[in-house]
Amino acid sequence: MTIGAFSKACRLSPKALRLYDELELLRPARVDSETGYRYYAPEQLEQARLVAWLRRLGMPLAEIREVRALGPADAAREIRAFWSRVEAETASRRDLASFLVDHLTRPLAGPCQSDSSTSSDPSKETTMLELRCATLSDTGRVRPANQDTAYAGARVLAVADGFGSGGAPASGAAVEAFKFLDDEPLPAGSVLNLLEDAVQGATEAVREVAGPTDEVGTTLTAMVWTGSQLALVHIGDSRAYLLRDGGLFRITHDHTVVQSMLDEGRLTPEEATVHPQRALLLKALTGGRPASPPAPAPAPDVRLHDARAGDRYLLCSDGLSAVVSEDTLKETLTTAPEPAEAVRTLVAGANASGGPDNVSCVVADVVSTTAR
Ligand code: MN
Repeated sequence: MTIGAFSKACRLSPKALRLYDELELLRPARVDSETGYRYYAPEQLEQARLVAWLRRLGMPLAEIREVRALGPADAAREIRAFWSRVEAETASRRDLASFLVDHLTRPLAGPCQSDSSTSSDPSKETTMLELRCATLSDTGRVRPANQDTAYAGARVLAVADGFGSGGAPASGAAVEAFKFLDDEPLPAGSVLNLLEDAVQGATEAVREVAGPTDEVGTTLTAMVWTGSQLALVHIGDSRAYLLRDGGLFRITHDHTVVQSMLDEGRLTPEEATVHPQRALLLKALTGGRPASPPAPAPAPDVRLHDARAGDRYLLCSDGLSAVVSEDTLKETLTTAPEPAEAVRTLVAGANASGGPDNVSCVVADVVSTTAR
């Protein structure tokens, strides 16, 4: 078929067909060596349409090349995987967008000042929110040293799980970089910038202590209390949970190979829990492997959570979540009256299950206090 006839049949313009040829997405069956005219075979129609649809889907050219070479079942699987990556990426951008909207429309309160107060009448009681927390980190029963860092300060809650030969200094450095926020007044309009500074500081500090290898690094799951909200920063496979209204909700997404395979429908949850590579991280704060051009450091997820009186938050390293079921987490968090007891029970639970890894938890309660 001539390019004109083929173009009509597959409803792609000759211009698009020439482009696909140049991009090696769809090569003509034959090119006349004299005239340079392109000729297509009728069997190529199906493929031309597929390429056009995949372009419309926004799939990158390199991936289209791969999908095009596959049989229908494999191509379908790749398209499903591509789309779940797009959705995951969109979800993290959606979180950032709502963070920004929130940040720009609501003046943030100072420490311990609540948004639920009715402050027009000064004689009225004002409800304020406060954070009460406890933290505990333990080597576990198997590892020779503890490379986790857990921290709860005036505003900052953090768990970091270091890995590699310098894992302990890496997790320590990441958390250290957040501690300046404990002393900041966090005035309206500055929270986002301060978080950005803290993330940047943690990234650089980890690079510094980890050296020129991405074999050394740390996860980081941190929350920063603004007085009415908690800003969440998360990278790696440590986790944050929220116990609210009797339900336990995981509010972080593991940056692991296994989690992404789960998201893409390539693994069942049952398979994921016993997968040999379930600890393999997709993203973490690491040292820098020399690259040219240097790759940008992977960015943590950032979200803002409205706190409510009665909320209980748990931050933990995978040394807890890998061996203690979510049912048990929920039961412990529901029944322990104080954060200090909750962290002790959780760490003991991990050690009772063999304590195969370092285990760290921070438990924080949002409580309301009244003041005149
Ligand atoms: Mn761990």
